[in-house]
Amino acid sequence: MSTETITVQATKAKETVVGPVVLLGPPGAGKGTQAKRISAHFGIPQISTGDILRDNINQGTELGKQAGVLMERGELVPDELVQQMVTDRLAKPDCARGFILDGFPRTVKQAEWLDKHLAKNHFFETDTSCKRLVVIQLTVEYTKLLGRLTGRRTCPVCGHIYNANTSQRAKVEGICDVDGATLVTRKDDRDDVISQRLKNYRRQTLPMVNYYARKNRLVEIDGAADLEVITAAAVKAIENGNRL
Ligand code: AMP
Repeated sequence: MSTETITVQATKAKETVVGPVVLLGPPGAGKGTQAKRISAHFGIPQISTGDILRDNINQGTELGKQAGVLMERGELVPDELVQQMVTDRLAKPDCARGFILDGFPRTVKQAEWLDKHLAKNHFFETDTSCKRLVVIQLTVEYTKLLGRLTGRRTCPVCGHIYNANTSQRAKVEGICDVDGATLVTRKDDRDDVISQRLKNYRRQTLPMVNYYARKNRLVEIDGAADLEVITAAAVKAIENGNRL
């Protein structure tokens, strides 16, 4: 493919209406990393409920205080609080052409709420184009998840995600390749909290994955494949979803 063709395709991707896209997967499946890559490809925002909650904790807001205690224990934040956060974020003008939800929904209740919210707020042009909600599930086996979660490091400045236990490690250990900031480990990436988060995933989030599977809306992608392979498969699924 010529450079010119690639440039035209990349420009087109940044002009089309996309999704909405929901990115699912257990903690450590690579949702954050892939959401950033898909977001850059289509030029649409990544909406990570975990990131919004962590911002609230850092800013010491009332929501941050309520959520922080639960997050440190690896528990989910109540549906109503997260749904209000998503309502506020989706109302921003940058979501008009599409968005990627990363870490939301996480329960059947949140998924049902999202269906109603998107329909009510005209995120779909017509009833039939509701099919355009693209739900991507990244699958990774349990033992790999543990290694990824314990090795995860994040740049507090640019948000780039590294992993000391995989090929995604920083060039200089503990330092961001992009801006030289010291990388940090998330508070909930501790062994005891990790096992609680994985337990909650099986108990509260897996039934929601089945909710989308029953509606034939689930696209499964092997989250253990190379980064580029996963992104290409996700982009294809989103483009196919757009054509429905
Ligand atoms: P994440 O960054 O997606 O791994 O989320 C970190 C933590 O934020 C989770 O373990 C939950 O405590 C909380 N959280 C993020 N998204 C949600 C959600 N959709 N519903 C409930 N809690 C959430």
